[in-house]
Amino acid sequence: MLRTHTSGELTAKDAGKKATLAGWVHVRRDHGGLIFIDLRDRYGITQIVFHPESDKDLFAMAETLRPEWVIQVSGSIAKRLEGTQNKNMTTGEIELVVDVLVVLNKAKTPPFEIDAEKEANEELRLQYRYLDLRQKRMQKNIALRSKVFQVIRSYFTENDCLEIDTPCLIKGTPEGAREYIVPSRVYPGNFFVLPQSPQQLKQLCMVAGLDRYFQIARCFRDEDLRGDRQPEFLQLDFEMSFCEQEDVQKMIEGSLQAILKACSKKPLKNGKVETFTWQHVMDTYGSDKPDLRYDLPITDITDLAKDCEFKVFTDAASMKRGTVRALRVPGGATLSRSEIDTWTELAKELKAKGLAYILLKDGALSSPILKFLSEDIQKEIVKRTGAKDGDAIFFGADTFKIVCASLGRIRAEAAKKFSLIDTSVHSLFWVTNFPMFEENDDGSLTFSHHPFTSPNIEEWKNRKEDPLSVHSVCYDMVLDGYELGSGSIRIHDAVLQAEVFEMLGISAEDQKARFGHMLEAFSYGAPPHGGFAYGIDRVVMILAGEPNIREVTPFPKDQKAKDLMLGAPSEVAEAQLKELGVKLGK
Ligand code: ASP
Repeated sequence: MLRTHTSGELTAKDAGKKATLAGWVHVRRDHGGLIFIDLRDRYGITQIVFHPESDKDLFAMAETLRPEWVIQVSGSIAKRLEGTQNKNMTTGEIELVVDVLVVLNKAKTPPFEIDAEKEANEELRLQYRYLDLRQKRMQKNIALRSKVFQVIRSYFTENDCLEIDTPCLIKGTPEGAREYIVPSRVYPGNFFVLPQSPQQLKQLCMVAGLDRYFQIARCFRDEDLRGDRQPEFLQLDFEMSFCEQEDVQKMIEGSLQAILKACSKKPLKNGKVETFTWQHVMDTYGSDKPDLRYDLPITDITDLAKDCEFKVFTDAASMKRGTVRALRVPGGATLSRSEIDTWTELAKELKAKGLAYILLKDGALSSPILKFLSEDIQKEIVKRTGAKDGDAIFFGADTFKIVCASLGRIRAEAAKKFSLIDTSVHSLFWVTNFPMFEENDDGSLTFSHHPFTSPNIEEWKNRKEDPLSVHSVCYDMVLDGYELGSGSIRIHDAVLQAEVFEMLGISAEDQKARFGHMLEAFSYGAPPHGGFAYGIDRVVMILAGEPNIREVTPFPKDQKAKDLMLGAPSEVAEAQLKELGVKLGK
């Protein structure tokens, strides 16, 4: 090794010893004729010092050093003088007095300072990701990510799972997003599809009798990007045979508890992982992934709204799947007109027509809609929501879906604005009993999980009359308001699988072309099985307290799905396209 120690290692007890360090020039300070350098590597920072009187050539060389040069220094470890020690650093009591300096590599002036107080803009950080990753916070995030991998691997291995890798050049597995496709050179006009998840392959592992599988799997989804999404991401992918829902839940829950134990100091809220039904969380919090580190429940007032004179309420109360609900925001009476307008815009983005409200101020109610509500109704709304003087009540009146989405959003906004989130705990819970199908805007059905999810067999009989009343054996896990992942008990019967495809409007011909291999496999003795997957980047993001997964992904794409460092995607040579039989449209 080119060093005897790392830069995070030497302490007062090493004083008097000799050492060689290698790393980057973090900062150079010239002080009272001395040159001090903070030498940085992955493990920390050690102060090194050059004295002008000891060796003129060495000192002259030290004067040339610039930030981010890579150097090797040898010398003796000395205790720093009283008053110049830094007790906040492991290495803060010593310095290395240099007698040999080797410049291993020079560096251009970096486009931004490493660990600067004010961080460079993200575009620049992503373009020079290898420099960005030199920053302390980023190194910590990458180390945390590695730790999470490690915990996952030991946990699942100890639980008898086989780590099985599955290919990336496959055929489409629908998970609700657009697919990335790869043209085949050998079969012009044919394409591989990058997996949105290894869903089909892990199920086929169960058919193969491999019994318990896990993989840290790379998944590709070409969808609109948000803070917690990337075109490619990692998930812990798990599948087991001869199990029921609770067995899968137990395994997954155990793995997340192990991660939290190893990587977080915060306890679980209420000391346990709870389970709620989808209906309950939607009704109470307006979201299937509510942040339960704060309460803020939503109250159904459809029965009251039916009898008022506010048309928006009465219309909603009488429409198909219509509802009227109220959200109490403690302290909300202090919201300004413009803040309420901003929240109204948020609700409108989620298709609400507006955002009615009542303010409770100085012992009286005020609201533009007050005149349409009888005193009895007003009193009952206040009573049911538990609103007090100083609070605000916001209303949603529309279809269940729109009311949940908009009030759920306002709930989150209110928690942020009034600092209601208890950040000293983690909230980890299950959401179960999801509807099997969702209705598209055009009235057609789509799956709410994926098409391999088993329906509730009892309810399946009603699928033709009322498909939306059928639930699936599916479960989500939510951590601090983020959906970590989903899983389900799978269909293992070829006939039932074909029925589900049919309900989704996939023709027999299409079924054969897209999923014939699954239907065929199921006819060779597929065991009952189920599984789960959770996003590892999201887990790391939450544990690191970062606002988005780019901060914990070593080489992420930007928000427009570009790799700014490599400059990808990029054009390819005409000859390459020709070879693939691909012609570009204008
Ligand atoms: N394949 C699913 C997903 O990626 C997870 C699962 O059902 O196991 O969301």
